[in-house]
Amino acid sequence: METVADYFGCLVFNDETMRERLPKDIYRTLMKTISDGKDIDITVANSVANAMKNWAVEKGCTHFTHWFQPMTGITAEKHDAFISPVSGGKVLLEFSGKELIKGEPDASSFPSGGIRATFEARGYTAWDPTSYAFIKDDTLYIPTAFCSYTGDVLDKKTPLLRSMEAVSSEALKIVHLFGRYDVKSVRTTVGPEQEYFLIDKDDYAKREDLILTGRTLLGARSPKGQEMDDHYFGSIRTRVAAYMRDLDKELWKLGINAKTRHNEVAPCQHELAPVFATTNIAVDHNQLTMELMKKVAERHGFACLLHEKPFAGVNGSGKHNNWSLSTDTGVNLLEPGDNPRDNAQFLIFLVAVIKAVDEYQDLMRCSVASAGNDHRLGGHEAPPAIVSMFLGTELNEVLEAIAGERAINGQFKSSMELGVHVLPKFPKDSTDRNRTSPFAFTGNKFEFRMPGSSFSVSGPNIIINTIVAKELRGFYEELKDATDLNAAVTKLVRETYKAHKRIVFNGNNYSDEWVKEAEKRGLLNLESAPDALDTFIADKNIELFKEFGIFSPVEVHSRYEILNEEYSKTVHIEALTMADMVNRKIIPAVAEYSARLASGIVAKKSAVPGLSCEAEESLVSRLTSYIDQLSEKIGKLTAVTDESMKLEGSARAHYTRNSIVPAMEEVRKISDELELIVDRKVWPYPTYGEMLFYVR
Ligand code: ADP
Ligand code: MG
Repeated sequence: METVADYFGCLVFNDETMRERLPKDIYRTLMKTISDGKDIDITVANSVANAMKNWAVEKGCTHFTHWFQPMTGITAEKHDAFISPVSGGKVLLEFSGKELIKGEPDASSFPSGGIRATFEARGYTAWDPTSYAFIKDDTLYIPTAFCSYTGDVLDKKTPLLRSMEAVSSEALKIVHLFGRYDVKSVRTTVGPEQEYFLIDKDDYAKREDLILTGRTLLGARSPKGQEMDDHYFGSIRTRVAAYMRDLDKELWKLGINAKTRHNEVAPCQHELAPVFATTNIAVDHNQLTMELMKKVAERHGFACLLHEKPFAGVNGSGKHNNWSLSTDTGVNLLEPGDNPRDNAQFLIFLVAVIKAVDEYQDLMRCSVASAGNDHRLGGHEAPPAIVSMFLGTELNEVLEAIAGERAINGQFKSSMELGVHVLPKFPKDSTDRNRTSPFAFTGNKFEFRMPGSSFSVSGPNIIINTIVAKELRGFYEELKDATDLNAAVTKLVRETYKAHKRIVFNGNNYSDEWVKEAEKRGLLNLESAPDALDTFIADKNIELFKEFGIFSPVEVHSRYEILNEEYSKTVHIEALTMADMVNRKIIPAVAEYSARLASGIVAKKSAVPGLSCEAEESLVSRLTSYIDQLSEKIGKLTAVTDESMKLEGSARAHYTRNSIVPAMEEVRKISDELELIVDRKVWPYPTYGEMLFYVR
């Protein structure tokens, strides 16, 4: 029987395939250029391109594409056939090094936030040789970055690669400071846990809101929700299990290490987590995972919903971003270690992250801002909009002891000195791992729980990498000339923790007390996406991006424009969809129903004179009153939606948030009440109960 090991990575032009198919010297040069981050020589590129093409053609490919990640958050591709005509009406299959290295999609319609003027509408894609090429749908996919000819960044990948480089080189300096000269490079690692919903394809097809906006804009709660907690880790239904098997197989063929799968808290909600990988590869793999989740769902009669809040009243979906740093010698830098030197080094990295998150709370929050995520953050199912960190009791005690210049739980006679004493052991799976924290230390990595399920994890990782790079750079400057490294490290850890401990919160983040406490501590509470986005262009943030060459000031502003526009457009489409559903299906259906009831009453009364039809009469009048209210609310919604069109950028986003979102809530409230008194057969949409509980 064929086993996973036989087909794992069979659609990937991976290291093993390259070793097999490339001339030895070319393979070696390619690997060296990749590890040195240099430009690829054209003769090497020609040879690699040819080997790639032969491999792909043998596997049935006819086309190749430069696969890139524009600022829309999804991936983009334009396919080119390998064929080139020769005499006699024949074709040759060709693929040159030039075509491999650089592509020129006529991509003038991607958002650029005003960076590309019409005179320079073109951008180009550049091969990212650190992420393997792969085959999908008979096409060779080449992972690339997307830039404009003026060098401005137009995608999500280029800044990600830059941020990885920034944090890696700063981390390396620190590691060397601690005498680990065997370490030649440091990489950032990410493991994104992906949540999703599966519902029946037929129900999906009946709802314009799901089709056009990814979430239900209307729908009364079902009598049963998630209160029984009977879905979480429950046995997986047969049809869903078949889907998961099929999905895993597709992912494994693409070399994606899909590892765990289970049911989540909400009915119909599930999760998939891969084994972590180098950040850019993890990002590429997560984009592919999301795409395949949707595609495989169709084969199984499902629709896969990746929206942050497909259903009101039940948990939404997030994407936990597990983040760490690891050396080429295989050491995880967020692993506390078991000797004084490693402990001290670990604490330096730890307090660098603490300082980074405190000083750049705004950017962390900004990196998870979207219309969809606004429904989730703070909804007692996901962290609040306030950024804080969880360290766990043991680690917290260690930092408190260092800060208070006292012994740890009486373990030493004198106060803790880093580089001399050994830290107490932290239980790996400490039971109080706080699930409510936005950014939790989980033993040897940080888990950022705020990103939404539909996000590209590129954005959050650009921010984490850059802010940590910033603090590590500062630390290196402070430590590099120290005569007594241990003393300098102890002082630095102590002072940094003391100055930034307000960001550490080990309690329940879902509680109302925390909101008050956080305010007292001076932490930011940026409740909505537009509020969060405004902080992106703060001077200190523009400076930060400039210092590390992540974004130029122009690029920061262009991204700010795009993010605001994306927010406004998303809500705009939702508002139009909602009005359409109410005007063209709900009101007509209810009007017809109440007319039918009314004629029934007339008929009954004439058949039996003196008959009282009180209940039915009251129902007819309530229905009519609901229709009146609905049309009034829709009128208001349409008015504010029209008004918003007069505005632009951040002003439009704020107006959208303050006027359109509440107007939509008002419509929904009436419609959901109405749904509950209308004959089930008459209501034009599948109900929550049907969608969430009838998948077998
Ligand atoms: P939980 O549900 O408890 O958060 P999971 O096992 O579902 O845990 O997910 C943990 C994720 O963290 C996995 O994707 C895993 O690969 C990832 N991970 C583990 N170690 C690291 C690391 N050093 N760097 C980045 N991600 C990691
Ligand atoms: Mg998790």
